[in-house]
Amino acid sequence: MNRQQEYVLRSIEERDIRFVRLWFTDILGTLKSVAVAPAELEQAFVEGIGIDGSVIEGFTRVYEADMVVQPDADTFQVLPWRERTARMYCDLNMPDGSPSATDSRHILRRTLGAAAQEGFTFYTHPEIEFYLFKEPYDAGAGPVPVDQAGYFDHVARGDGHDFRKAAIEMLEQMGISVEFSHHEGGPGQQEIDLRYADALSMADNIMTFRTVVREVAMQEKAFASFMPKPLALHPGSGMHTHVSLFEGDTNAFYEPGAPYELSQTGRRFTAGVLAHSREISAVTNQWVNSYKRIWGGGEAPAYVCWGHNNRSALVRVPMYSIGKGHSKRVEIRSLDSACNPYLTFAVILAAGLRGVREGYDLPPEAEDDVWALTEAERRAMGIDPLPQSLGEAVAVMEESELVAEVLGEQAYDFYLRNKWQEWSEYRSQVTQFELDRYLLQL
Ligand code: GLU
Ligand code: MG
Repeated sequence: MNRQQEYVLRSIEERDIRFVRLWFTDILGTLKSVAVAPAELEQAFVEGIGIDGSVIEGFTRVYEADMVVQPDADTFQVLPWRERTARMYCDLNMPDGSPSATDSRHILRRTLGAAAQEGFTFYTHPEIEFYLFKEPYDAGAGPVPVDQAGYFDHVARGDGHDFRKAAIEMLEQMGISVEFSHHEGGPGQQEIDLRYADALSMADNIMTFRTVVREVAMQEKAFASFMPKPLALHPGSGMHTHVSLFEGDTNAFYEPGAPYELSQTGRRFTAGVLAHSREISAVTNQWVNSYKRIWGGGEAPAYVCWGHNNRSALVRVPMYSIGKGHSKRVEIRSLDSACNPYLTFAVILAAGLRGVREGYDLPPEAEDDVWALTEAERRAMGIDPLPQSLGEAVAVMEESELVAEVLGEQAYDFYLRNKWQEWSEYRSQVTQFELDRYLLQL
């Protein structure tokens, strides 16, 4: 055992922890948990805990069902909402100790390893949007937001305000720093921005964030939803993510004097993200509903372009802090709040790095509101649309050598199969829209 593992065992004893939850994420981004008694932990650190992987999305094929959950001692945290309970994130291995090919955390680690070979570390800072709805939920009436406020509104005695305070306190107790929070554009819609961290810690933090937000919402007699577009007439929930590469202590995106102080590495990285954004879309926007957000207005980006002060662009180069090299970053606005953060960060990093490695040219900046242009104008400017639907996104991903390489064969195959299935189930629905429009007319 190493020192961190010994520290965990000591903390468990000192703090009288009775349950340790081992957390891991399936390939669609759902958090899973097995609880172990503290007495079993020492052995779990050495050998891992065996589980039947065949019941978990994407982990194994039925004939290789045995999996080993290996706790990562660096992620030990006591859960503030549960008495005497702690958690650790886990890596998933095969019984022979090799990493599971479909473990999202492993897929991200491997991609970060490839970046490290080229001297880069990858940092991310997400702005996570979500809705708070009243409990209990009545499926007939639809979701009812907890307030009727809008963008940056200060809701005097509003549930949203108390909620954000409670959620931020709980996140801080779990070692997750919050940079900024405010009411978002939709009724009951909130945004909480997490402080910069390396991409693996951040992906873990996002999974914790979703859990904390749901727990706190329950305490406030509400429920939180990260669904990309829960209300047709209001903005969806994006997870705009600011990203940067560091070389040692130096921000590789920063170059004083360059346009927008964005270095050649930063420009090529951005060009890579743009060039591959259609094929990574089924990962960054993975649900049928994700495309209702993308194509539903409300400042979600539907077209592949960049700009410095253009909120309709897919990538924005913010100019908050001129001359502050450390904080130079680009903001990717396509991601939604229901993505698998491990896979999403992996495909973004791989797309950007490909741009850096192969010296992609950044196309000219889009200065107009690209939504307001005509189709012909956008075509003349070389601005492509993102996929219109999950079906189109999956078809594009199926042709993507980049995504196949990042996910690896087994995860790629599983993912494509799963998403085709989701698409075909959706496609076979007869919707209210169709009944209203056609039943009496045709
Ligand atoms: N909610 C919008 C989206 O879906 C973004 C609003 C904003 O600019 O923060 O991306
Ligand atoms: Mg926002």
